Amino acid sequence: MANVFRVGEIEITVVSDGEAKLKGTEYFPASTPETWAPHKALLDDEGYLTFPFTCFVIRSGERTVLIDTGLGPLKSGTYRGGDLMGELASAGVRPDDIDTVFITHLHADHCGSAALRDDDKQIQITFPNATYRWTSAEQAYWSGELPPQQIARRDIFAAVAPRWNAADGGASLAPGVDVYSIPGHTPGHAGVVVSSGTGRAFILGDGVSCPVQLTETDWSGAGDVDPALARAGQEAAAREAEGSGALFAAAHFPGLTFGRVLRGNGKRYWSPV
Ligand SMILES: [Zn+2]
Repeated sequence: MANVFRVGEIEITVVSDGEAKLKGTEYFPASTPETWAPHKALLDDEGYLTFPFTCFVIRSGERTVLIDTGLGPLKSGTYRGGDLMGELASAGVRPDDIDTVFITHLHADHCGSAALRDDDKQIQITFPNATYRWTSAEQAYWSGELPPQQIARRDIFAAVAPRWNAADGGASLAPGVDVYSIPGHTPGHAGVVVSSGTGRAFILGDGVSCPVQLTETDWSGAGDVDPALARAGQEAAAREAEGSGALFAAAHFPGLTFGRVLRGNGKRYWSPV
């Protein structure tokens, strides 16, 4: 089910491509069952986090921008994707309505539906009218020699390459929709900031993996390429959002919703709206 939010004149529809279940203490190696105790509302009975593959449709004036495309139709271990196209249809969004696809980073759970295989197993661009955008640092990283743990979707890159147009920090994707550089999870990782009137919303991809990191500021996600850089970016974004009333979300936050960054008892935390 899609959730719809408004930021001034801009409408944001939040949908999901599926989800994965990840053990809290494994995803955050610095954590223990004891240090998870104050945050156990985020875990199921067996200590697993649910990570949805959240995608955001932003309508600004005549423009329609899709942020991230989820895992795509893949089932592997606890990873289950492939819901995006049905979710978009339910929300009244047709593939040819999308004029821009912005991918926060090129991990397989963010670019998985950017191109899909048809009935003859031929890979086809999913959003026929869209320009596909991510940062030039991200493009350089995935075009080069990768560490072995990175799974590259070369088939998807090849399919969308003719439509790729660099969008680096500060670039405008549509009126009031700007690229927000937050590297560290991957070298060219970037989110988006939506601004209209007095409203503001942060959409941070995997810049922050889980709301718990706003409180437990030394918990780095297992997937971060440069944990110190990722932590610095999280701190900067959280400081900017804290107490400002800005909406704040990331790709794997629970509940397909935005929240606000607040402070209580000397600790920062994320409160879903
Ligand atoms: Zn991810």
